[in-house]
Amino acid sequence: MNRKQPLRAVKGMRDILPPESRLWGRIEQVARELFHAYAYQEIRTPLVEPTELFARGVGEETDIVTKEMYTWEDRDSKSLTLRPEATASVVRAFIEHKMYEQPGLKKLYYMGPMFRRERPQKGRYRQFFQIGAEAIGSDSPAVDAELIEMIVALLARFDLSGFTLLLNSVGCSTCRPAYIATLRDALRQVSGLLCPDCQRRSETNPLRVLDCKVPEDQPIIDGLPILFESLCPGCFTHSQRVEEYLQDRQIAFTMQPRLVRGLDYYTRTTFEIVHGALGAQNALLGGGRYDGLSEALGGPRAPGIGFSLGEDRFVLAVEQAAPVETKARTDRLLYIAWLGESAYRHAAELARELRALNAAVEVAPDAAKLKKSLEIASRIGAGHVLIIGDQELAEGKYPLRDMSRGEQRTVNNDDLFREFGVPRANE
Ligand code: AMP
Repeated sequence: MNRKQPLRAVKGMRDILPPESRLWGRIEQVARELFHAYAYQEIRTPLVEPTELFARGVGEETDIVTKEMYTWEDRDSKSLTLRPEATASVVRAFIEHKMYEQPGLKKLYYMGPMFRRERPQKGRYRQFFQIGAEAIGSDSPAVDAELIEMIVALLARFDLSGFTLLLNSVGCSTCRPAYIATLRDALRQVSGLLCPDCQRRSETNPLRVLDCKVPEDQPIIDGLPILFESLCPGCFTHSQRVEEYLQDRQIAFTMQPRLVRGLDYYTRTTFEIVHGALGAQNALLGGGRYDGLSEALGGPRAPGIGFSLGEDRFVLAVEQAAPVETKARTDRLLYIAWLGESAYRHAAELARELRALNAAVEVAPDAAKLKKSLEIASRIGAGHVLIIGDQELAEGKYPLRDMSRGEQRTVNNDDLFREFGVPRANE
C-alpha cells in the first residue's frame, strides 16, 4: 500500500514540544506574577486585525509593513492581516473601549503569537511569541524607569545575566523634524554608497537608515549626525530623568544614539536589551515611548510606553544560562500500574482523588506485567510507581516503588494523599 506523504508544519512556524514547553509555561507564569506585582492587567486582542491598523500603527515604511505581513482579502473584500506585533492592537483597543475615560494610568500586558514573513533562522521565526506590556496615559519619566525596572526584574527571576540594556531618546515632534532635515542633507552626500534599502529610506524615512544592519553601511552611518545632540529642552530633561531614575535603581545601561524606532509617533525613550548568547539574532526585547500613537490611530492624546520580549529568544537564553531547567521534571509523577478489572477501577478512583489534590498521576491504560510497567514508568520519567493487584486491593495497602532509589515500601491511601497530594509552594 502506498503511504501518504506526511504533512509538515509551515516553514518558519514551529511546534513547541515537551519538555521544552514546560519552560515556556513557567516563563509565562512568572511573567504574569511579576506584571501583577507591578499592577498590570492582561489584555487579549485578536490575532487578526484590519490591515490599516498596522499601516498606521506600525508605519507604512517599516520592513514589517512593506515586506513581512501576512495579508489577505477577506470574502467581503476587506484587507485583513495576522498581527505582526501587539502594541498597535492594544492602543486600538484602548481607544475602542474608551479606556482613556478611566482615571489613572492604564497598564496592560499580553502574551501570544505574532506573525512576520521573515527569513527563518535560529531565533527568527515566522510565527514567534512575544510577552509585552504597555503603560498608557502618562508621559512621566517615572513610568519609563518603572517599566525598565520590571523588565530587569523579569530577567533576574531567571538568573539571566550577560545582557546589555541599550538606551536612547528619539526626541519628539518639536525637535525631530529639524534633525531629520539635517540627517537628510547628510545622507544626500553619502546615499550612493549605502545599500539599496538605505538609498530608498534616505528619502522616505531617513531615521530608519540608522537602524540598518548591513555591515558595509556601518562606517558611513557612524559618521552621520546624532539625534541625541539635537533634543529640545523637554526631551533632554525627560531623558536625563530616565537616566537618573535608572541609576537610582542600580540598573546599568549603555547610551546607543543609533537606537531608533523610525516612526513618526515614537517619541523620546527607546531601548533594547541584547544578549550575548543569542548569536546573530541577539535582540531579546525592545521597547519605547509612543506619545503620538493614540492620535495616529484616531484616538485622544494618550502618551504611552511599552516593551515586547521575544519569548522564543528568551527560552534560548534561559536554556543556555541553566540547561537543567529544560530537563524533564516529572519526578513528582506517580505512575499507577494495575492488573485486573477491579484493580483498574480502584486505580482510576485513587488517581481522581489524588489529582483533585493537585498530584500528577498517570494511570496505565492497559494491564501489564510488573517488569513492563516499570519500563514504561521509567521511560516517561515517573518518580514513583504504585502497583495495584487483587491482593493489594483486598489489603488496602500497595507497594510503592521509588524509581530513583530503586527502593520499594508499602503504603496505604492516607500515606499517598499525604505524600503526593500537597501542592508544593514553588510549583
Ligand atoms: P519588535 O516588535 O520588532 O521590536 O521585536 C521585539 C522582540 O521580539 C525582539 O527583540 C525579538 O526578541 C522578538 N522578535 C521579533 N521578530 C522576531 C522573529 N521573527 N522571530 C523571533 N523573535 C522575534
